[in-house]
Formats: sequence, structure tokens, C-alpha cells
Amino acid sequence: MAYDPSNIFARILRGEIPCRKVFEDEHVLAFRDINPQAPVHILVIPKGAYVSLDDFSAQASPAEIAALVRAVGEIARTQGLAESGYRILANHGADSHQEVPHFHVHVFGGRPLGRMISKA
Ligand code: 5GP
Repeated sequence: MAYDPSNIFARILRGEIPCRKVFEDEHVLAFRDINPQAPVHILVIPKGAYVSLDDFSAQASPAEIAALVRAVGEIARTQGLAESGYRILANHGADSHQEVPHFHVHVFGGRPLGRMISKA
């Protein structure tokens, strides 16, 4: 799947749409989800043009991959989630119901999250 530069997160990265930013560095931007599924629900995205984890894991540089993983951990700690616990999730493709075709990691926390995923 080719990267679509008109996707909503590309527009946030270009500053065309506002976001509630919680973290930014050379390779990563993180902001609050517009429709939070938990008291804390943050989206962590690479600044590079990657469709999903499939694309990111194959094409991104070691520096970009390290930056994203380190950002997730730092954000969770900064948000006070490291003690109580949190969940990360990344959707890829149709079965996962990925809606936005720019790679993103969801960080959920702030309440007990239950076990894993629905069996339905
Ligand atoms: P996906 O299903 O692709 O893994 O998740 C996409 C996420 O992006 C959803 O949780 C949705 O609420 C969030 N989202 C969609 N549009 C916007 C937006 O314009 N701003 C923000 N902050 N989040 C968005």
C-alpha cells in the first residue's frame, strides 16, 4: 500500500490540523487521541511517511525505530503510567480495522484495561 500524504496524521504533522501534543523530538510526535478509549489515550507516530508497522519495521532507519520505542516508554513514564500499568497497540491492515494509514502506536492507561482483545 502506497503512503497517502493526505491522511489525517500527515496533516497534523504538517501543522494543517491542530493536536494536543504531549511529546516531540526529531523523529516522533505524540498527541492525545481525539476519541479517547481510556483516561489516557495517546497516539505516538513517526514523522516519516510509513503506512503501518509492516512498512515501518521494514523501511525505517534504526534511529527512527529506536526513537519511537524510547518515546513510547518515556511518554508512559511522564504520564504516570509506568507504576499502574498501560497497554500499547498498533493496528495494521483490514483485519485490525486500521483507520488512519500512517503508522501509530496507541498508548492506553489510567484505569484497569481488562485482558487483551475481544473474542468476537
Ligand atoms: P486506528 O484505528 O487507525 O488504529 O486508530 C486511529 C485513531 O486515530 C483513532 O483512535 C481515532 O480516534 C484517532 N483519530 C482520528 N482522527 C483524529 C484526529 O484528527 N486527531 C486525533 N488526535 N486523533 C484522531
